[in-house]
Formats: sequence, structure tokens, C-alpha cells
Amino acid sequence: MSGSVQDFEHIRAGLERVRARIAAAAAAAGRDPAAIRLVAVSKTHPAEAVAAAADAGQRDFGESYVQEAAGKIDALAGRDLVWHFIGPIQSNKTRAIAARFHWVHGVDRIKVAERLSAQRPQGLPPLEVCIQVNVSGEATKSGCSPEALPALAEAVARLPRLRLRGLMAIPAPCDDPEAQRRPFRRLRELLEGLRARGLALDTLSMGMSDDLEAAVAEGATVVRIGTAIFGLRPRR
Ligand SMILES: *Cc1c(COP(=O)(O)O)cnc(C)c1O
Repeated sequence: MSGSVQDFEHIRAGLERVRARIAAAAAAAGRDPAAIRLVAVSKTHPAEAVAAAADAGQRDFGESYVQEAAGKIDALAGRDLVWHFIGPIQSNKTRAIAARFHWVHGVDRIKVAERLSAQRPQGLPPLEVCIQVNVSGEATKSGCSPEALPALAEAVARLPRLRLRGLMAIPAPCDDPEAQRRPFRRLRELLEGLRARGLALDTLSMGMSDDLEAAVAEGATVVRIGTAIFGLRPRR
């Protein structure tokens, strides 16, 4: 849990590099870089690292483990940060997630969505959610299937304390930039399909440190970047 000055400079430099990558990818795609929200994925990194990123102007942070995140959210209360839960959602964690986070990206079944809606505290605005879709076939296990998506999206959109914003995906890692684009394109087409059914959705949460250019080229509005900002994570 050390937060040396050197660590902080590394984070500032990482943020600058990632912002430049987003700007270049947006320019190449003829897109406005301001339409792409950078979520800095701070899982496994200490509150001091989040504070350093916040000092460098970063507002949105992504966390995957509820307990670990709660400590950081408390430590940084008063800084006006936006917290995104991006990990797998266990049913026994929904109450803490609904109380502590602004966004949840990994909703993939109705039971979890119903719990998040029922448990969202009344004093807070609706929880912003994305449905995670499995766009890589058997390669990944979490995420709802493209076939099940329309019914799930319509059910989630009806829940009173959630605001369904769009879709999220974590494609299987892949080195080839052209091949990286395929699952992202698929996710965009699925979003377009839901819009055609009348759902008002504006969010495509896709793209990580190794594939953010491909994601921006296919229309990402949220990229979730950890390693390229904070450095390598210790293995869990
Ligand atoms: C850890 C994580 C990221 C960040 O991955 P990097 O490769 O470090 O950028 C993004 N999205 C999700 C869902 C993650 O779990």
C-alpha cells in the first residue's frame, strides 16, 4: 500500500498517455473525444493511487471487489468521484453495490437487476446500469447471450430504481486489431437493435488497456482502463 511520489507521477503520465490514445482513436474514427468517458480501473490499487489520479483530473473510477472498493470510497468521500462497479455481481453483494456505486456495468440476469433496484436507497438517484453481453461465444462465461438480450433489456428498463444506459462487453483477449473490432461491432449492432425496439440507450462500455482503439473505432462511449494508467496489478 505504498504511495510514493514516483508512483503518483507514473499515474499522471499513464493518464496523459491514455487520454492521448483516446483522442487519437477518436480523431481516426471522426468522433468527438468528449463523447468517450474514461473510467480509470483502480481495482487492487490503494486509495492513494486513486487520489493521485483524481488530482490529475480523473473523476470516474472502476472497481471489481465490493469490500475493497468500500474502503476507497470512504477514504475519498468528499472528492465528488463517480464509482463504477465493473466486477461479477454476486447476489449477496447487491445491497452494498446499490448503496455505494453510481454505475453497475455487469448486470447479466434479471434476479440481480431486481435486487439492485429494490435495494437502491431512496435518497439516491436511480442506479445507472449496463447489461453485460457475452459476445465471444464460449470464450467467456459471464454476460447474457445475444439471444436473451432483448427480453432482459426490456425487463431491466422497467425496474423503477435503475436507469438502463446500454451494454457492456469483455471480449476474449486478442492481438489482431482487426479481429479485436468484431465483438465490439457486434455489441454496437446489439445496442442499435435495442434502440430500434424503442429503448433509449446511449452507452457502449467496451475497451480496455489492450483494445481501446478498436473499441473507440466501433463506437465505445465508455472505456475501462486499468493497467495503462496504474501499471500492472498483482495477481489475485
Ligand atoms: C480489470 C478490468 C478492466 C481493466 O483492464 P486493463 O486491461 O487493466 O485495462 C476493464 N474492465 C473490467 C471489467 C475489468 O475487470
